[in-house]
Amino acid sequence: MAQIAEVATKKPIVPFLEIEDGSPYLKGVKCPQCGTYFLGERLACSKCSHAEGFEPVKLSTNGEVYVYSIVHQSFPGAEVPFVAAIVDLPEGVPIRCNIRNVEPTPEKGVKFGMKVEMKTGPVEFADKDGTQQTRKDKEGNEVIAFWFEPAKGA
Ligand SMILES: [Zn+2]
Repeated sequence: MAQIAEVATKKPIVPFLEIEDGSPYLKGVKCPQCGTYFLGERLACSKCSHAEGFEPVKLSTNGEVYVYSIVHQSFPGAEVPFVAAIVDLPEGVPIRCNIRNVEPTPEKGVKFGMKVEMKTGPVEFADKDGTQQTRKDKEGNEVIAFWFEPAKGA
């Protein structure tokens, strides 16, 4: 008897998040002239103005918290407080993201310079009845987001 498996299709929340190859990463490019890395696509280098031959690269999934903010008020359905941050990757690329699995206080939790690693998963939210849901796009694909959390062993 044939079984039809229902496979939920996953879609990254941003075009520069690669989730297809098993170990997700952020896509970037490298300037062939000065070696500067950028997140996502780029038509010209902001450092040296070079404008062709950008090489696609797999950016590091580990980084350090450069700056953060503890958010206490957000849109309905978003759990607060949460930590919004800019994480610096070793390539010198800053990433705007949330830091999860960390206490949202400077005393006991998140720290400047904290070593963090990237994770991905479905976007979750609470609906108006307070039920936890995962975000789907118009075609019913599960929307996959990325965040960073304290690196293991850090
Ligand atoms: Zn350049």
